[in-house]
Amino acid sequence: MKNLFLTKSPIQKITFKGFEFYIKRDDLLGQINGNKARKLAFYLHQNYPKNQRFISFGGLQSNALEALSIFTKLKGYKLIYFCEKIPQFLKQNPCGNYALALNNGVVFKENLQAKNLKEFALSFCKENDVFIEQGVANLNAEFGLKELAKELEIQSKKLQIDFDIFLPSGTGTSAAFLAKNSNFDIYTCACVGDSEYLKKQILNILPNFDFKNLHILNSVKKYYFAKPYLEFYELYKQIKIECNIEFDLLYDMLGLNIALNHNFSKPLLYIHQGGINGNASMFERYKRLF
Ligand SMILES: *Cc1c(COP(=O)(O)O)cnc(C)c1O
Repeated sequence: MKNLFLTKSPIQKITFKGFEFYIKRDDLLGQINGNKARKLAFYLHQNYPKNQRFISFGGLQSNALEALSIFTKLKGYKLIYFCEKIPQFLKQNPCGNYALALNNGVVFKENLQAKNLKEFALSFCKENDVFIEQGVANLNAEFGLKELAKELEIQSKKLQIDFDIFLPSGTGTSAAFLAKNSNFDIYTCACVGDSEYLKKQILNILPNFDFKNLHILNSVKKYYFAKPYLEFYELYKQIKIECNIEFDLLYDMLGLNIALNHNFSKPLLYIHQGGINGNASMFERYKRLF
C-alpha cells in the first residue's frame, strides 16, 4: 500500500564546526510552529463553538502564550491568560510574545494577591471552558507528538538512517510523549530546573513512564533558565552565520551546547522546536548586558 501520510516538516543535513548532523525543521510548520504546534494539534482538530473560552496561565513571554494566542485568534475563540503582576514598564512598552498576545486579543488577568497561579486560574474556570496547563503540559499533547514520531520513522526509513534524537526540555512533555510513541533513543536536557525536577514533571503527567528510551543529559556548567550567557549568544550567532538557521535562545542554546559535546553512537537528529519570536525579548537583555 502506498504511504499517504504526509510529513509536515523536512529534515535537513547541516555541518557546524566540522560536525555533521541533521535538523528536523519543526520551526517551519507555519504560523504556529515548533513543539507548541505539535502539542496543540489535538485542539486544532476539535470543533469548538465560536467564542469558546480557553483558560491558561504562565509567563508573559512564554512560547506557549504565543502559540495559544495565534490558535485562539485564528479560530475565533477567546483566551484568558493568568499571569503574575505585569511590570509597569512592560505594560507601557509591550514587546515580544506579550505584545503579540495583546494584538491577538488575549485578556490578561494578573495575580495580585500572591495566590497559587494555577489555582487562581482554575477558580475562574466555568463548566464549558477549556483549561490548558502551563506550557500545554497535558495528556492531549500526545496526539501531535504521536504524529511527530510517525513522521520521524517515515523520514528515517526514507533516508536509510537510524538516528539518535535530541530535543531540549522545559516541562518534558514533548520529549516524554515522543519517546513513548517511538522506538528511537530520545535524548534531552533540563532547561528549567535540574534533571530530577524534569523527571518529576514527566511523572506528573505520565505516572508510569519508564524512561527506557528517554535519556536525560547534563551539562557540566549549571545554567539558569532565561538568564543571558555570553557563550549562548556566541553560539547563537555562529550557527546562524554558518548554517543559516536561527535557533531559540532559551532552550536551544543549552540543548545544542550539550548535544554537540555528546558522543552519540548513531547520527544525531536535533529537533528544532521553534520559539524564534521569543528571541526578541531576550535580545533586549543581551544588548543591555554585552
Ligand atoms: C516550549 C518549548 C520547549 C519545551 O517544551 P516541553 O514540551 O515543555 O519540554 C523547548 N523548546 C522550545 C523552543 C519551546 O518553545
